[in-house]
Amino acid sequence: QSKDAGGGVFHAYEPRLHAQAEERRVLEQALRKALEKGELHLAYQPVVDAASGSLKGFEALLRWNSAEFGNVSPAKFVPLAEEARLIGPIGDWVLRTACDEAARWPGHIRVAVNVSPEQLHNPHFVTTVASALANSGLPAERLELEVTESVFMHEGLGATKVLERVLELGVRLSLDDFGTGYSSLGYLSRTKFSTIKIDRSFVQGAAKGISEAVAIIHAVVALARSLGMTTTAEGVETEAEQRMVQEFGCSKIQGFFFSRPLVVEEARALAMRGAREAA
Ligand code: C2E
Ligand code: MG
Ligand code: MG
Ligand code: MG
Repeated sequence: QSKDAGGGVFHAYEPRLHAQAEERRVLEQALRKALEKGELHLAYQPVVDAASGSLKGFEALLRWNSAEFGNVSPAKFVPLAEEARLIGPIGDWVLRTACDEAARWPGHIRVAVNVSPEQLHNPHFVTTVASALANSGLPAERLELEVTESVFMHEGLGATKVLERVLELGVRLSLDDFGTGYSSLGYLSRTKFSTIKIDRSFVQGAAKGISEAVAIIHAVVALARSLGMTTTAEGVETEAEQRMVQEFGCSKIQGFFFSRPLVVEEARALAMRGAREAA
């Protein structure tokens, strides 16, 4: 198709495409300034032991309260940050901030930080993690990095090597949103994950009685066990779902049923209270 013909064919869609591109451009420009303007913060969602309900840790979740756009969902701006090559500096900030905060919590409470594939393709990532730990004083074993299967899609870029070096620091790894990407069992045996996070689409599917979702959760729990890994069920919203994933043998639970993501002060208070109750 020639350039001339193309111009005519796509003419009808142009205004809409143009508006979308323009929205992205404006959002990207605002995101570029979000860090220095202090518009980013972290919410912390509790992760609890499935059997006892006791607090195990928190997942740090990035929030953007834009002066221009209000609260923008990470499902929207994280991909934009990745494409615009902003996830490097933003991701560094997330790591430092989460480690600084977790260092104030009682000694057994962990923090999990989401890491984008782009961050792992930068060899300096290991240094960033090491200095976030050193500067905060957080012991490495209390930091967990969450990566998704997409990390392994471009193996030429050496994400596995970077993960190996991060593991050498003593940090834990978990595999996020398991089953929703290009799942391959190969990297489960190559990379030492501590935890597989079962995506909420399976939890909610199983709760609706979808037999394939039930089968997948059973298989993932069994696989994780035999590989010496634990499982976290994501997106547990009801008591029935909580009971169900407990019966399936999931080790940990995360979801609105136990708690929504909390502001930093609420998370800190919960961490302290949990410690008192355990004592
Ligand atoms: P994720 O890592 O899988 O995080 C879990 C998401 O599920 C969070 O959405 C959380 O608020 C939501 N969630 C938790 N419990 C429930 C529940 O019971 N029901 C439902 N419907 N949802 C629940 P959130 O905060 O909007 O984050 C979306 C995604 O954005 C994250 O998915 C993660 O992929 C990405 N993200 C968030 N923060 C960061 C970050 O600091 N760095 C990077 N690279 N990605 C991040
Ligand atoms: Mg996550
Ligand atoms: Mg997840
Ligand atoms: Mg998810």
